[in-house]
Amino acid sequence: MSTAKNSKPVNFIHQIVEKDLQQGLNDGQVVTRFPPEPNGYLHIGHAKSICLNFGTAEKYQGVCNLRFDDTNPEKESQEYIDSIVRDVNWLGYQWQGEVRYTSDYFQQLYDWAVYLIEQGKAYVCDLLPAEAKEYRGNFTTPGRNSPFRDRSVAENLALFERMKKGEFAEGSCSLRAKIDMQSPNMNLRDPMIYRIMHTHHHQTGDQWCIYPMYDFAHGQSDALEGVTHSICTLEFEDHRPLYEWFIDHLPVPCVPRQYEFSRLELNYTITSKRRLKQLVDEAHVAGWNDPRMPTISGLRRRGFTPAALREFCDRVGVTRSNGVVDMGMLEAVIRDDLDKSAPRAMCVVRPLTVTVTNYPEDQQEWFELPNHPKDESMGMRQVVFSRNLLIEKEDFVEDKPRKWKRLAPGDAVRLRGAYVITCQEVVKNAAGDVVELKCTYDPDTKGSNPEGYKPNGVVHWVSAEHSVPCEVREYDRLFTVENPSGDKERDFLECINPQSLVVLTDSRCEIGLADAAVESRYQFERTGYFCVDSDSTAERLVFNRTVTLRDSWK
Ligand code: ATP
Ligand code: MG
Repeated sequence: MSTAKNSKPVNFIHQIVEKDLQQGLNDGQVVTRFPPEPNGYLHIGHAKSICLNFGTAEKYQGVCNLRFDDTNPEKESQEYIDSIVRDVNWLGYQWQGEVRYTSDYFQQLYDWAVYLIEQGKAYVCDLLPAEAKEYRGNFTTPGRNSPFRDRSVAENLALFERMKKGEFAEGSCSLRAKIDMQSPNMNLRDPMIYRIMHTHHHQTGDQWCIYPMYDFAHGQSDALEGVTHSICTLEFEDHRPLYEWFIDHLPVPCVPRQYEFSRLELNYTITSKRRLKQLVDEAHVAGWNDPRMPTISGLRRRGFTPAALREFCDRVGVTRSNGVVDMGMLEAVIRDDLDKSAPRAMCVVRPLTVTVTNYPEDQQEWFELPNHPKDESMGMRQVVFSRNLLIEKEDFVEDKPRKWKRLAPGDAVRLRGAYVITCQEVVKNAAGDVVELKCTYDPDTKGSNPEGYKPNGVVHWVSAEHSVPCEVREYDRLFTVENPSGDKERDFLECINPQSLVVLTDSRCEIGLADAAVESRYQFERTGYFCVDSDSTAERLVFNRTVTLRDSWK
């Protein structure tokens, strides 16, 4: 019997698995699967499902399959398949064997549909969709039997064959399981199991013009793959009796069991694929991997690490009670991760010119700074000091408020890792904006405190000439309200945060970053965590702000 490999917190799914293993289920071999429909990119909610399915298999030395649930070709595409494969891989998981597709089993599923007909457990129904809906009843009214329910086996076999051959129009008939139109569970009221769809399929081409419904395909695919624990979200709880009905009535090779857990919901964002697709299709964002999107590809581009996303899923936990997780929790895990792992650098996002009037024009000197204040193994970096510097605009005010810890006229500050400077003169343009500070530096403050006065804080800086021009994209939450789709009167699009992207084009970062690779991550001192965006070119680096240094949202 397998035992747990690590001592990560045990959730209720793990408890079930442990009990099953004790009872010798499947000779101790746990088999799970992650079954995305390739009709969009994966989002943070899917990450939870991935971590649970792959993580459970890993913990009990089992295996997990990646299976595309591709029964709805109209909405699916190879682009989505490719993105999903990449995202699961990037999260750090490896599936057993090849990528699988429900469409691999279309022939077997068809044969099982024929088997049900032969057993008198399925029939071809000619009710049109609107009629079928009417016959189905609702939660308070029982359904009525279809007038086609008592067709003979021979007639059903012939009609189903003709459906397969493409002799009927879409919607004109369907194959239904014969269960119970009176059942209080609507899913058992003779559910449709095959429908006609004259649509090209990304995997099977034009081989089929009838496609199995999700409910008919899912459990049987699980059985074909020897899945022991079929883990899904709570909205499928009412489908479980149907899942079991098919397994009970078909000669499947094994009996998988379905277990449900609650979906991950995050505030200030959405995790509905349909709405995410709308954001993309209507160009409210720059694509599925826009760094503001809660998609795995968006979070990757934003600067999240796989380890941070896995840690987030661990912290969220797995239960059967619905709840909304605070976005601050997602931001906290990436902060914790990058605080440890990201090298420090200086970047002036909104530059203000500082001229050091007593520093010679043709002189420059190098200062050595640690890449990480607490981790010597990360080594040192060099920055250049010169007469013409840049500091952050917001690090200077003319009329300083109480407790101001930065630069003001007549005040001194330390330039991080270099000298102390004092602001002697403020230069303004015709519009009255501050455009330059004339400062003096104190040559005796290299590595030591000044004599007789105290600098009013520390600010970051770069040398104007010896720095790298870059673009900085400051991201904020995509929506201004906690539950963007929670208001019936107001469309979720109206809740988009107009400040969710601010682009700064005249930023400058320290010289050592000139060759920074795409996806490399930094802490820009005093500013936040950033990563190099794929839009960067040889001429121009682009940085995405992953997250600010502190949670200042509220
Ligand atoms: P669709 O409406 O397209 O079916 P979906 O979000 O259910 O959308 P799937 O591709 O079917 O997408 O999902 C794959 C797996 O991920 C399923 O097992 C599903 O239960 C799980 N999943 C989807 N959304 C979440 C979520 N927010 N939290 C946890 N698991 C999720
Ligand atoms: Mg689904």
